[in-house]
Amino acid sequence: MEMEAATAARPAALEALELGEGYATLGERFVERRAPTPLPEPYPVAFNPDVAALIGLEAEQAQRPEFLRLAAGNARFSSVEPFAAVYAGHQFGTFVPQLGDGRAITLAEISNGDEPFEWQLKGAGSTAFSRFGDGRAVLRSTIREYLCSEAMAALGIPTTRALAIAGSDEPVFREVPETAAVLTRIAPSHLRFGTFEFFHYRREFDGVKLLADYAIRRFFPRLLAISAESERYAAFLREVAERTGRLMARWQAVGFAHGVMNTDNMSILGLTLDYGPFGFVEAFDPGFICNHTDAGGRYAFARQPTIGLWNCKALAAALSSLVAEDDATAALAEYQPAFRETYLGLLRAKFGLETSRPEDVDLFSSCFDALHEGRVDHTIFFRALSSLGSESTPYDDRVAELFENRAQWYDWQRAYRTRLEGETRGDDARAAAMRAANPKYVLRNYLAQRAIEAAQQKDYTELERLHEILRHPFDEQPEWEAYAAAPPESARHIEVSCSS
Ligand code: AMP
Ligand code: MG
Repeated sequence: MEMEAATAARPAALEALELGEGYATLGERFVERRAPTPLPEPYPVAFNPDVAALIGLEAEQAQRPEFLRLAAGNARFSSVEPFAAVYAGHQFGTFVPQLGDGRAITLAEISNGDEPFEWQLKGAGSTAFSRFGDGRAVLRSTIREYLCSEAMAALGIPTTRALAIAGSDEPVFREVPETAAVLTRIAPSHLRFGTFEFFHYRREFDGVKLLADYAIRRFFPRLLAISAESERYAAFLREVAERTGRLMARWQAVGFAHGVMNTDNMSILGLTLDYGPFGFVEAFDPGFICNHTDAGGRYAFARQPTIGLWNCKALAAALSSLVAEDDATAALAEYQPAFRETYLGLLRAKFGLETSRPEDVDLFSSCFDALHEGRVDHTIFFRALSSLGSESTPYDDRVAELFENRAQWYDWQRAYRTRLEGETRGDDARAAAMRAANPKYVLRNYLAQRAIEAAQQKDYTELERLHEILRHPFDEQPEWEAYAAAPPESARHIEVSCSS
């Protein structure tokens, strides 16, 4: 292994990328070979050197016309035939036997970085799985995904990444006419819970096994040490359940609502996958629904941990030809502890507690009740809490100001202050640690919208600036203070739908 790592030439030029078939080696049952549909007269919209570095690509390569052609889907890597993957999924609780990459096409797997990555185009034209869709993505949705996946990465939350956006004046019709764009998305794998469901519900159990073997070999190689097959597959399910539980904990702690937690949008690697009508909670509300087509609130903010488990159960059902029911039950039982342990750890960090006490849970939940009642901005509150003064200085008015009902804040604050007396860490050290746990900047919808509207006029400075701010979400960045603000009244009700 070490030898290989030492000889890998990186970062590389486009021609020097080490390309492989990756997922397509599973065979033609799993993919449709399909070249992207060229994007007419493409132009560069965004390029992300962080992700270039991650995958072992020289940043300067983005300047070349060859890169733009690849990013637009107007060229492919010659040694690998591009492909779209088939999958199924439970959409809003209902099983849909065939979905698939309806507008995503993977160009290759590249192995120049620390691990192999799929180079995937989203919005690259129709495939066998497009159903009624046009296979395109609009500039608006590619910018949202680009910004949010990079914001999440900077927050330390597992996610797919965004390398580039290519735009075009080609019209695409959604609720209103928009223009087409292609996002280059990067992940070690885009494998979904729904991929397993596709084969299971067709009773192609050998396909399920091939998928599980592929996933274990590539992404959970530790499990190869388990010689009994049924135990190994149960351990695989357990790993996915734990990763999903931990991911949900991270979403909840930062206030991220995904919006469309269908099983086809759930990553086997525990990555945040398929950014659509997502939103960060602003005025705190556990019932926050960011997707206006989710009238029933199935994917409301506070329901995400429950849905995460529901989805893991759907995965367990899809693995039932490999994992006995009792073993699956035992594997799924690890979801809740993984979620809870991670979530409580994150909350302790958010509240600045180094020690753990049973009554902390009540302290946390009474705080969230107060935030809800006062419609207090989630991100602003925790950031302000991070800069509370010491015993000798009065508690910062900035926090109190966030509450219409100040008495409620003062009540809670008294209990919190008492709790802090049980901590040994000094105020300054606690404040610094809290600032590293509570981001100042998150991707608020109104900020994304501003960057989108400028980009629609071919001005990408706002997109670049916002990306740069979100790369350092925990830094003060006083010059960009305005980007930490709650939305202006006029932008409080931006509605985001699935149409992307
Ligand atoms: P989503 O809700 O965005 O995760 O998409 C659900 C399914 O619809 C997936 O199979 C997508 O590939 C497909 N899909 C979404 N948008 C389009 C589109 N514009 N053209 C073709 N297929 C699409
Ligand atoms: Mg999807």
